[in-house]
Amino acid sequence: MTILDLNLAEMTDFLVNEVGLKSFKARMVFEWIHQKAILDYDLMTSLHQTERDLLKEKAPFPQWTVTEHPTKDSNKLTATTDDGNSIEFVILKSKSAPTLCVSSQVGCPLKCAFCETGTLGITRNLTAGEIVYQVLLAEKKTGGIGNIVLMGMGEPLLNLDNVLKAIAILHEPTGLNVSPRRITLSTAGIVPGIEKLLTADSGINLAISLNAPTDELRSELMPINKTYRIDTLIRAAKAFQEKSGRRVTVEYVLLKDVNDTPVLIRSLIALLRRTGFHINLIPFNPTSSGYKKPTLDHIEWVKAQLEAAHLNVTIRNSRGVSTQAACGMLASKK
Ligand code: SF4
Repeated sequence: MTILDLNLAEMTDFLVNEVGLKSFKARMVFEWIHQKAILDYDLMTSLHQTERDLLKEKAPFPQWTVTEHPTKDSNKLTATTDDGNSIEFVILKSKSAPTLCVSSQVGCPLKCAFCETGTLGITRNLTAGEIVYQVLLAEKKTGGIGNIVLMGMGEPLLNLDNVLKAIAILHEPTGLNVSPRRITLSTAGIVPGIEKLLTADSGINLAISLNAPTDELRSELMPINKTYRIDTLIRAAKAFQEKSGRRVTVEYVLLKDVNDTPVLIRSLIALLRRTGFHINLIPFNPTSSGYKKPTLDHIEWVKAQLEAAHLNVTIRNSRGVSTQAACGMLASKK
């Protein structure tokens, strides 16, 4: 745990009672960190030198080593955490403010067949402060992040308490004040987690990573499907959409000749018809898994089939492929 794990009330309490600052100074520290992304006490010019020295001693910041892998459309950041683990997060450039893809775990336990991260297994959950730290580092680098997507390494619903705390810290009006509407959490289908997310009323958006319209194929691609079958996942997503009033996104990574055949696309249409979900088709990024990306013509054909069935669909081209920063490719390769 570091100072970045603390919300405003907790930080005030800690800095007043453990460090001896006045409460207005504690608020200043929160503002320096979370409004201005200043992660160096020596740069907090509204504090006295004695206060800065005390803070350095009693509330040190994490000291990650971060390596950048920039391309024209993304910047993958590979970080070594204070306990020597490796994680990645990605700034995806856009004409407006960049999107940040953050990680929620070191590795991932779910072992989806097409995913590089899944080959790592799970080491541990990231703390709320480590999730916040990714955002602050990206803020510092870009001068202002637009949207945040929890689509990096890990299954966020298996680390929901820390994810929710990070979202609450990022939402503090005295801090970065990120609207939950700018945050999307993507899950491989942890149904009780979706229900808990709904109960928590965090205000964030939900995406479900579907990738197959039948239980047989989905269980092969995503072993979590053996625990939470497609019908229970769709039911939970519908409940989320109805109760939250926010449209759910379905992610469908297109794997050549695996989940993009005419028969399966017809099943997909039947499954999603009248759900009101938005569908993101994601052309697969080749990894060591052996799956392939469909041709551009075929990707357009899939989109046209879904549109003809009056489904709401876009093709999401993964940025960052050249540096292994794209969807399903984060595996701490340096
Ligand atoms: S696709 Fe997501 S849930 Fe599946 S193994 Fe990769 S990181 Fe984990």
